[in-house]
Amino acid sequence: MRAVVIEAKGEQARIVEGDEVELLAAVAEDATVELDVSYSSYNYKDGMAIAGRGILRNFPAIPGIDIVGVVTKSGSSDWSVGDEVVLNGDGIGELLPGGFATRARVRPDALVRLPMGISAHRAAAIGTAGFTAMIAALKLEDGGVRPEDGDVLVTGAAGGVGSIAIAVLASAGFRVIASSGRKDAQGDYLRWLGASEVIDRRELSEEIAKPLQSERWAGAIDSVGSTTLVNVLAQTKYDGVVAACGLAQGPDLLGTVLPYILRGVTLTGANSVNAPRELRERAWAALAERLDLEKLDALTQTIGLAETNPYASQILAGQVRGRTVVDVN
Ligand code: NDP
Repeated sequence: MRAVVIEAKGEQARIVEGDEVELLAAVAEDATVELDVSYSSYNYKDGMAIAGRGILRNFPAIPGIDIVGVVTKSGSSDWSVGDEVVLNGDGIGELLPGGFATRARVRPDALVRLPMGISAHRAAAIGTAGFTAMIAALKLEDGGVRPEDGDVLVTGAAGGVGSIAIAVLASAGFRVIASSGRKDAQGDYLRWLGASEVIDRRELSEEIAKPLQSERWAGAIDSVGSTTLVNVLAQTKYDGVVAACGLAQGPDLLGTVLPYILRGVTLTGANSVNAPRELRERAWAALAERLDLEKLDALTQTIGLAETNPYASQILAGQVRGRTVVDVN
C-alpha cells in the first residue's frame, strides 16, 4: 500500500509505503468494505488538510475526501467483490483515512455504484466538488426555481464546485451568470461551460451594499460565503433560493433578515459529507444524465500522489481551474 500520510498535527505530508494493516488501523469499526483505489480527486478541503488547516482530526492521517475504486472485500450484503464504487465525504480524508492511497477501508452506506457510462477517471473528476454542485442545483430545483424565473448566479465560478454548477445548470436550461475574480483570464472558459454572462466578483465581494438591492437572481449557488453571500441574498428575487455550499471568501454572514421577511428568499445549504444515501444516488444519477462528459474532460487535469503536496498552496490561493484528479497508482 502506498499513501500520502501526515503522521501528526503540524507535520508535513509524505508518501509512505507500508504495512497496510498499520495504515488502516484508525478506520471506523463499521468500515467493512475494502477497496482498491483507482483515483481520488483534489478538493479545496484536501488543500486545507495538507496545509495543516484544521481539517484532519485523527493521526496518522491520510487526506483525500473522494475515492473511486473497486471492492476487494465486503462485509456488507449491498456490495460484492468487483463492484465499481464512488465515495464522496462521509468523513474520509477528515476523521477517517482518505483517498490519497492505493487501498482504503470504508463504510458501506455512503458508497454509490459507479453510474453506467461514467468511467472511474470521470467519476473522480466530478468528485466532491461536482457532487456538491449537483446537490446544490437540486436544492434550487426542489425549491421551485425554474429557467423561466430568470437568471441564476454561480459564485466562485472558475473553481471546482462553480465550474460544474455552471455546466449542470446550463444543461437544465437555466441562464447562468458566473461571478469570478478571473473574469479576463477565465471568461472564455466560463462561457464555454455554459455561462451566458461573466461578472467581476468584486461587484459582490468588496463591501456589503444595502440590505435589499435590485432583484437580479432567481436562484444562486454560492461557494464563497461572507460579503459575497450577503450581497447575493440582498439581490435575490422574490421567492428565490440560494444554496450555500462553501466559504472560499470566509465563513461569516453579516447580513439582515430583510431578504427573508420581505422577499421570501430561502437560504439553503448543500452538504456533501453527510448526504444520505438516497440523495447521493439521486445526485449521481442526475450527474450521469446531465453533465456533458466531454466538457468535464476539458476542465480536468490529472496529478500523481507525489504532486499532492505542492498543489495545496495553489488550490488555497484560488489558482486552480476546474477539477483535478489524483491518480494514486
Ligand atoms: P476551488 O478552490 O476549486 O474554488 C473556489 C473558488 O472560489 C476559486 O476558484 C475562486 O473562484 C473563488 N474564490 C477563492 N478565494 C476567494 C475570495 N477570497 N473571495 C471570493 N472568491 C474567492 O474550491 P472548490 O470549488 O473545491 O470548493 C469551493 C468551496 O466549497 C470551498 O470553501 C470548499 O470548502 C466548499 N465545499 C463544500 C462542500 C460541501 O459539502 N458543502 C463540498 C465541496 C466544497 P474565481 O477565481 O472564479 O473567483
